[in-house]
Amino acid sequence: MGDVNEVLIIGSGPAGLTAAIYAARAGLDPLVIEGYGAGGQLMNTTDVENYPGFPDGVEGPEMMQLFRRQAERFGTRFITADVTRIDFAEHPFRVWVGDDEHAGDAVIVSTGASAKWLGLPGEQRMMGRGVSACATCDGFFFKDKPVVVVGGGDTAMEEALFLTRMCESVTVVHRRDGFRASSIMAQRVLANPTITVRWNAVVEDVEGDQVVTGVKVRDVDTGAESVIPAAAMFVAIGHQPNTALFEGVLDMDAEGYLSTRSGTTRTNVAGVFACGDVQDTVYRQAVTAAGTGCMAAIDAERWLEARGAGAPDHVGAGAPAD
Ligand code: NDP
Repeated sequence: MGDVNEVLIIGSGPAGLTAAIYAARAGLDPLVIEGYGAGGQLMNTTDVENYPGFPDGVEGPEMMQLFRRQAERFGTRFITADVTRIDFAEHPFRVWVGDDEHAGDAVIVSTGASAKWLGLPGEQRMMGRGVSACATCDGFFFKDKPVVVVGGGDTAMEEALFLTRMCESVTVVHRRDGFRASSIMAQRVLANPTITVRWNAVVEDVEGDQVVTGVKVRDVDTGAESVIPAAAMFVAIGHQPNTALFEGVLDMDAEGYLSTRSGTTRTNVAGVFACGDVQDTVYRQAVTAAGTGCMAAIDAERWLEARGAGAPDHVGAGAPAD
């Protein structure tokens, strides 16, 4: 085993980087394994208008660059790779990146969530050829073309509005007759003349040979099928937590979100803390992720302090978390 880090943070969205800022300023010399998708979901976002402190809004990637710089300023160390294996059964906790092993006295899990897919055959086949889950990343490729956005939440609204800046037309396909999105976002979509909404419709498949040419939908009331001509389909139907690594080790709910003790970031393994979207089924905002990142660093600091003062370890899956 190599050097033992006092605090090892897995993931680098607003939660992980806020945890790093607090842990670094507390003198805990954190190591962040930031993942190949460093920065998390905000790297795929355009304007962030609801993060306090940015009255004119800020681009998601720029905001994450600022978070990272702030963490670096206090000495946070980074590894740009994905964690491939963990062992939390014994102390210090161990985490692998391929064959490289890293140890931590305390671990903060902030691996976030990833976009969900519809699970259609054509979806996988046409990935990168007109099927995408990121309008910010790929919208430009469909300049002056008609496109489809699937979903009825805030993400779908945001994607649709963004795409109107460059695409000829945007059709939002939603499986019900009402949006789940916040009313301000829904109103913006409904008021936008470039956007058409196809209510009560589900996507049957993606049409096209080399590139997407249309999206086949079925009306859920009548069963009638039709094809919406489109050069791209942006899937915006929510996210799933990135918790496969922790199955059987950390307690999680039926959807795979990590369970934390109410009002804290403690998991069922004492010394392992979870923050951000990986444990948040309700709020899922950058600012709440950052807030829980701060909580995780403080919880870790206090846990380390108590342990140093002779408190029992309680390490191991299923052990009491306090
Ligand atoms: P949500 O879970 O809120 O919405 C997912 C949408 O996709 C729902 O309308 C759902 O339909 C639909 N859906 C889910 N599965 C399928 C499927 N298999 N086929 C067809 N449709 C499907 O996820 P979001 O990613 O939109 O938002 C997540 C959170 O992030 C929310 O809290 C949101 O407010 C927040 N957010 C905030 C933003 C902002 O403030 N700027 C921007 C983006 C997200 P149904 O409604 O029928 O369940």
